[in-house]
Amino acid sequence: MRTSVLKFGGSSVASATGISRVLDIVEKEAEGGRVILVASAISGCTDALLDGSAQALEPIKERHYAIVNRLFTGADKEAVRRETDSIFARIDAAPKEEKVTFGEILSTRILAKKLEAEGYSTLWLDSRQLVVSGSLQESFRRIAKAVAEAPGVQIFVAPGFVCQDAAGCVSTLGRGGSDYSAAIYAAAVKADALRIWTDVPGIMTANPRQVPQARTIPVMTYKEAFTMAERGAKVLYAPTVAPAMEAGIDIEIRNTFDPDGGYTVIGRESAGGRVGLASVKEGDNVKISLVGTIEEGDRLLSARALEKAGVSALGMESSVDVLTVTVRPEVEEKALQALHRTFFKSASSREIHVFIAGEGAVGTALFELLQRADVAERTGRRTVIAGTANSRSFRMDLSGVKADTPRREGDFVREVCRCAPEGSVFVDATGSETIHGDYLKLLSSGISVVSSNRRALAVPYSEYAAMHAAARERGLAFRYGTTVGAALPILESITRSSGSGDTIVSLQAVVSCTLNQILGEYNPSGGSFAACLERAWKQGLTEPDPRLDLGGADALRKLLILGRRAGVPLEKEDVAITPIVPGNLLEGDSAPQEFCQALEGAEPDIAAMVADAASQGKRIRFVASLELNSEGGYDAAIGPVAVPPSHPAYYIGGTENAIIFRTRLKPNPLVIQGPGEGPLQAASALLDDILR
Ligand code: ADP
Ligand code: ASP
Ligand code: MG
Repeated sequence: MRTSVLKFGGSSVASATGISRVLDIVEKEAEGGRVILVASAISGCTDALLDGSAQALEPIKERHYAIVNRLFTGADKEAVRRETDSIFARIDAAPKEEKVTFGEILSTRILAKKLEAEGYSTLWLDSRQLVVSGSLQESFRRIAKAVAEAPGVQIFVAPGFVCQDAAGCVSTLGRGGSDYSAAIYAAAVKADALRIWTDVPGIMTANPRQVPQARTIPVMTYKEAFTMAERGAKVLYAPTVAPAMEAGIDIEIRNTFDPDGGYTVIGRESAGGRVGLASVKEGDNVKISLVGTIEEGDRLLSARALEKAGVSALGMESSVDVLTVTVRPEVEEKALQALHRTFFKSASSREIHVFIAGEGAVGTALFELLQRADVAERTGRRTVIAGTANSRSFRMDLSGVKADTPRREGDFVREVCRCAPEGSVFVDATGSETIHGDYLKLLSSGISVVSSNRRALAVPYSEYAAMHAAARERGLAFRYGTTVGAALPILESITRSSGSGDTIVSLQAVVSCTLNQILGEYNPSGGSFAACLERAWKQGLTEPDPRLDLGGADALRKLLILGRRAGVPLEKEDVAITPIVPGNLLEGDSAPQEFCQALEGAEPDIAAMVADAASQGKRIRFVASLELNSEGGYDAAIGPVAVPPSHPAYYIGGTENAIIFRTRLKPNPLVIQGPGEGPLQAASALLDDILR
């Protein structure tokens, strides 16, 4: 069975609200296997116990009782209050040096009782009996035995920090030691997961309290984590690393207050390069360490950064993986911020990380385009392809996920949300019907979205509007110019008019490449409409089911997108669709070839429609239109229209598109016409959306 060790720090269990979050996380984990929950004392408790005075202890007592009163009711409340009374009585009676060991007893007894009251088979483990300081092997043996002897238990609850020493006397693992307790438990039971839940989203490039610009480091090696911890990153207690590394267990550092947000995985993968900054008091001074690969020029860079910030360095040392500067405590934050600015410059100013979903023709063309060196030269902006995915597998350079890692639903987007540096862009070059739910997740994680997938835009208006609102709120890009007319500047032109106080009066879009192609080719005297369609189907120019093309599904999506950009909150139901062939023919789900056969029956009608148009000197085109009506609303329609030679769509052929629109301020029609399809065209327009 799967066993996970979850450790929660003092701030996670500091209040009843915090404990409720802890319980949510633990209970979710317990659905998938056994859990060993290791917890710290509530924040501030250990300091108060070390102080030992009644004045320090009184507020701590109050906080514990407040938690008990909030979490329990009835007889449970009475029982837990009595137990809390007796622990505080023992604290009062204990010799000064033993008082400190009771904080974790208090918090974990409350947690165990709460889980028990919720119906979990729970066992409280006494770490004072199981963890022996200075003897990992003995600790492993005792823990493994205690867990093996309780096969029916779902959730074990163990106090962190406390242990016994070699002489069997109660002792501690040192300040911050609960992390270490968790690693000892994990190694003892060969746990499948070791998660340290705290109040920050993982190990960051600096302490976020000192450097607000600090970012989560998504992956790092055991060694990198150890060095950060040893050099002062309090988020992890340095001795924690060794038992986990020896047992080959990854350590995750996660945020209790944002369980689905960014986090760090400590294991064998390194993100490479610079890792982070850590600082620690040493004597009267502070030592600041830059951890990671130290390059030749880094000493000079550090010196310049500090000088520019007006900080004088008292000393500087460097090795291959750490550079340390000594400063006075008064300038610690200033120095950290200056060094952070220099070594962890926000990615957005230098390069754009691009994540591409979809490896079809468009995704592949974009991939190749981004790799061309001249892009940076022409635009002055460097792009980096940081991750790619198709429907089966994905690759993520930033989190070390190698090429062709099989993916399950949601894996790629989750990793992108977790690892994407500031200024990243997610490109949807798929044709997925379901991916639009991910757009909101990406935008809320600060990632811009560029899409060529019109299915993701042709969703109900409220969802469409929510995506735009999320992008606006965070100042991110949300662009999909390629969804109508590929590289033609159609949406751009519409947006410019509607976004500048002008009103669209009418719009006609001949944007169904497939139908344009078939209608362009069709000539009643030279073969049937059905034969033209079947040819196009065989060439892969239609949807896998050509009924969708004839029914106007694609034109409908494009009209929704155009209309909404024009400021009209169109829904699918608002559009009157006249299919190009009788509607009843489109209903069945026979094989495409059979359908084409059946379509021969409609040939006389289609031929008549085309001949009728021809007799008036017109041609049939499949037109999506939006018309301002006399009530100030809009009529939206899709269907075959006979157009005269004066109409721009009269002459278009192949996969050309044409759009004609008039606005209040531009009453003469504006016409955009040209190639409306093609992977290279789409890729170049996607790149334009990315760089803009
Ligand atoms: P817990 O009570 O969960 O054990 P700690 O207070 O021991 O939590 O550690 C979390 C704190 O570590 C954060 O609130 C943060 O201020 C501090 N910290 C120091 N350096 C870093 C860093 N590089 N990344 C993240 N947090 C850090
Ligand atoms: N409660 C202990 C401390 O404050 C141990 C820990 O939180 O990890 O140091
Ligand atoms: Mg800690």
